[in-house]
Amino acid sequence: MDARAHMTSRMRTTASQTAYRIGAWEIYHRIMNRDNLTVVMFHRILPSGTPESKNASRTWTVSTRIFEACLQFFVRNYNMVSLAQVAEATTEGAPLPARSLLLTFDDGWADNAIHALPMLEKYNVPSVIFTVAGWVDQPVPWNEIAMRAWEEGCLSSELCKQWWTLAGGGAEGMLSSWDQSKGMHTLLARVAELPDSQRKQLLEMIPEMRRFADSSPVSLHQLRDLHASGVAIESHGLTHLPLPFTKNPEHELRESRSRLAAMLRVENAPIAISFPHGRYDASVLRLARQEGYQLMFTSDGCVNQCDRGRPSALLGRIPIMEQAITNSEGDFRPAELASWLFRRPARRLSEGHVGSAHV
Ligand SMILES: [Zn+2]
Repeated sequence: MDARAHMTSRMRTTASQTAYRIGAWEIYHRIMNRDNLTVVMFHRILPSGTPESKNASRTWTVSTRIFEACLQFFVRNYNMVSLAQVAEATTEGAPLPARSLLLTFDDGWADNAIHALPMLEKYNVPSVIFTVAGWVDQPVPWNEIAMRAWEEGCLSSELCKQWWTLAGGGAEGMLSSWDQSKGMHTLLARVAELPDSQRKQLLEMIPEMRRFADSSPVSLHQLRDLHASGVAIESHGLTHLPLPFTKNPEHELRESRSRLAAMLRVENAPIAISFPHGRYDASVLRLARQEGYQLMFTSDGCVNQCDRGRPSALLGRIPIMEQAITNSEGDFRPAELASWLFRRPARRLSEGHVGSAHV
């Protein structure tokens, strides 16, 4: 950052902190978000400084200390709601309270049970874990290793091109760049079609591959424990492949639902899904509806406009990123979280208006 940009950023931060201190953000929030549902999205919660946290994604990991500060912030500024309350409010049930907030996790990591659950219980905060059904009780799967390597620049453009060629090649012109997530997601869907042995060879080409495998998806025992503690366990696909690019999205939607129901020994299968990598299009929405999902969570970063407490069944979510809400010393900045959440555009996502271009 050059000196001028640094100065502008500091001025903005100071203005934001002043607005928070004098209560201006709170007043703004009370008025602007009165009839909005905010859905926040976490992934991993780990104590900082441990080997696992050093190898985890910096973008998608929040430390236990900052997670607790977030919970205190949410409880102070919002009415926390459960997935069941949101589902009821979309139909005939009770409408949502003013300034409601639903807390969600994606993927289903063991750390959600070990580190997040005790804090959720301490602050009495309901939550949802969108779980990749095929990852439960498994070692870190190949596509997560590939994504982590890509995020950290260890899956170079050259290597991506090599993978693409080994996975059948062709149609390369349509992918303008491997640096963009669409190129990477298309590549993952293609590699998913290969036999296991060939995919293993591709993974071995990644430098420091073992480092990206140092994580633990939730175990079956932990999943049942979370469920018994009142955490909603919902679908995040069967294999975490981006649904619009996979050959058989119906299978992902159906199998994830029935496997989670079997694992939890419940008759009522999950009613909600969050789309892996935030990717969806009109056809995926139609299929998800057909497969029985009542609520569909995107990664579109908006708050959800309700109609007198009634949200849409298609919902936006805001990622909580530690870098956005801490200072350079790693201290929690409530003013930054207020600014990150309170000023989001309010939208009412509608299934009918999603074109295939969304992907
Ligand atoms: Zn995910």
